[in-house]
Order: sequence, then C-alpha cells, then structure tokens
Amino acid sequence: MIPVMRPMLGDEEADAVAAVVRSGWIAQGPKVAEFEQAFAARVGAAHGVAVSSCTTALHLALHALGVKPGDEVVVPSFSFIATANAVRYCGATPVFADVDELTGNLTAATVDEVLTTRTKAVLAVHQGGVPADVDALRRVCGGIPVLEDAACAAGSTYLGKQVGAGAPLAAWSFHPRKLLTTGEGGMLTTDDADLAARLRRLREHGMSVSAADRHAAGTAIVEQYLETGFNYRMTDIQAAMGLVQLTRLTPLVAQRRTMAARYHELLAELTGVRPVRDPAYGKTNYQAFWVLLDEHVDRNGLLATLADAEVSARRGIMAAHLEPAYAGHAHVPLPVTEKLTRHSLILPLHHELTADDQRHIVGVLASALHPVVSR
Ligand SMILES: *Cc1c(COP(=O)(O)O)cnc(C)c1O
Repeated sequence: MIPVMRPMLGDEEADAVAAVVRSGWIAQGPKVAEFEQAFAARVGAAHGVAVSSCTTALHLALHALGVKPGDEVVVPSFSFIATANAVRYCGATPVFADVDELTGNLTAATVDEVLTTRTKAVLAVHQGGVPADVDALRRVCGGIPVLEDAACAAGSTYLGKQVGAGAPLAAWSFHPRKLLTTGEGGMLTTDDADLAARLRRLREHGMSVSAADRHAAGTAIVEQYLETGFNYRMTDIQAAMGLVQLTRLTPLVAQRRTMAARYHELLAELTGVRPVRDPAYGKTNYQAFWVLLDEHVDRNGLLATLADAEVSARRGIMAAHLEPAYAGHAHVPLPVTEKLTRHSLILPLHHELTADDQRHIVGVLASALHPVVSR
C-alpha cells in the first residue's frame, strides 16, 4: 500500500532521543530551549514557545489575547477541527468564513463579510501548506489581530519570506502528519518578547520561574503562581527529535516540490482534476497535495478504487460546520468550503514516494476518470 504520508525518521532521531533519556532530564529543559531558538530562527521569528501540540498552541494564543465568552473569532470551517475547537475552549464563538477556491484559505472579502463589533480576532490558516494572503486580511481587519494557524506551513513562503517571519503570533504542529514531527508537539512564534514570556508562563501553570530554571539555579527558589495557567509543556525527548527534524526541512520541502511538479505534469493529461498550486504571492511546502475533482465525479468511489489499487488517498480537507460538533453553526453560506471538502481528495506525497508510484497513482485516476480513452 502506498501511504498518503510518512514521517521522515532516521537513526539521528533515535540517537538524539536516547541521549536525552541517558541524561536523566526528560521533561521541559535545555533541549526545549534549544529547539525553540532553532525553530524560531528557521521561520524568521524572534521567539519560539514550545508546547504539547498545535491545538494547545492555538488555545494558549487565544487565551493570551484575552478571548472570552461573548467574543467572536473568525476562522475557516475548511480546516482541521482543532482550529475551531480552540475558540470554543475560550468560551468564545467561532464564526466561519468561506475560503478561496484556489488556495483553500480565507480572503479579505470572505472575512469582511463576517466581521462584527464582537470580533476579537481572526485565525487565518495556511491550509495544507498553501500560504494565506495575511497582508490582505490585516488590511481588512484594521485593529483586529490576525493570528496564524501555521500547523501545516513549516517551510512555506509568503512574499519571499518564510511563513511566520513577521507574524505577530503563529501556531505550528509537529504531529506526524505534518512535515516535521516530534510525535506530538507544537510551537508558538512571535516577535513580541513580553508576549513570549507570558506564553511561557501560561504553558507551565502560570509559574513565575520555570521548573527547569529552578533546577538549574542550584539554590532554592520558591516559585509563585501569577495567574491560572495550563500544563501544555513539550518534553526534552520531543525537542531533541525536533532539533534533528529541523535539519531535514529545507531538503524535504525541495523534494516535495519536485514531486508536486511531477504530479502536475502527469495530471495535465487528465480532464476534470485540478491540483493545488502555488498562489501568486508565495510558495507552498505541499504538506497536502490535494486535487479538486469535477462535481460529477464520485469522489468516495474514486477513493475506493485507489484503495483497491494499493493507493491510500484521503478525502479532502474537512469542513468543521458539516460535522455534528458544529451542526447548524454556520453564520453565512459557505459554498466554496462545501465544494472543496466534497469534491477534493489528497494524494500520497512523502519522501519515499517514487516516480513509478506517482505514475501508478495517476494511472489509476486516469482509468477511473476516462475509462474509454485509457482502455
Ligand atoms: C494538524 C492541524 C492542527 C492540529 O495540530 P496538532 O499538533 O495535532 O494539535 C491544527 N490546525 C491545522 C490547520 C492542522 O492541520
């Protein structure tokens, strides 16, 4: 079976994890601090705050902004459900805005349509790695902060810079489905030193001095609990793995883009299939290689055909408002979101995929979509 995604893990990760285990310090400590600095530097942010997942990163970000019951936060429904859930964790209301058909991302027009006096923030997603046009969103939002869910976007670029460079607050994921993995894990990046300090405190029970710093001090320091915080810490075991993973990012993105170009070439022969591409203003890391199918194509039937041919494809990106947890929740019609989620699928893309695999996958699509032409 050709898997849809495979994390790239080697002996280097195993050795780095073993070294942390042998060191005796396995919870948040020096490796987390090192990973935070290295990751922030790689994406062009001044500060990184490592956490247990992107989901907890999003919750912490909204909490730090003061999002509370009665507030609204604009999010795309067209995203993994964690994006909307993070708003509910704060007791606030996620307000779904529609997305652009080519990028799968929020646009100035779709966000403008749902802004109200209660809008406390906008959470823009760089969906599947395709950068969102965040400058356009910020222009329409005026003083309302635009946070970035960059879970999928490590190594993607926006206007020639890394996604995350200059972002007031961006949240990242290290789940194995993403390009870089620490098993589970997440990060917040920002250029704001005070905000970073507060996020560090909030992820660790609101403590005035971190457990690692108290340990390193050598003398007794009594901590204070300055506000109600959370336990959203990453471990040094995860961070050691993340440091190795980070060295793989540049070649990994280059390799994925080469494979995506091959898919584009092969798929150009087919009608009724439109693959995701770079927008004019940036470059995707192709975290998800999704294709939009003509509306008459039976998408789920096609997934079954692919599975029969040993190809593990996936339905397209989900739409939260079509799930029971958000039933009846949409404030405005979301026609593009519904079209994309119903008529798209994600093709395999990972470092072990071969050119032959790609030809096989597109061949299966071709015979399913054009049975007469392709015998
Ligand atoms: C994967 C993902 C998340 C959740 O990340 P976790 O690290 O698994 O919590 C959030 N938002 C988007 C857009 C994602 O793709």
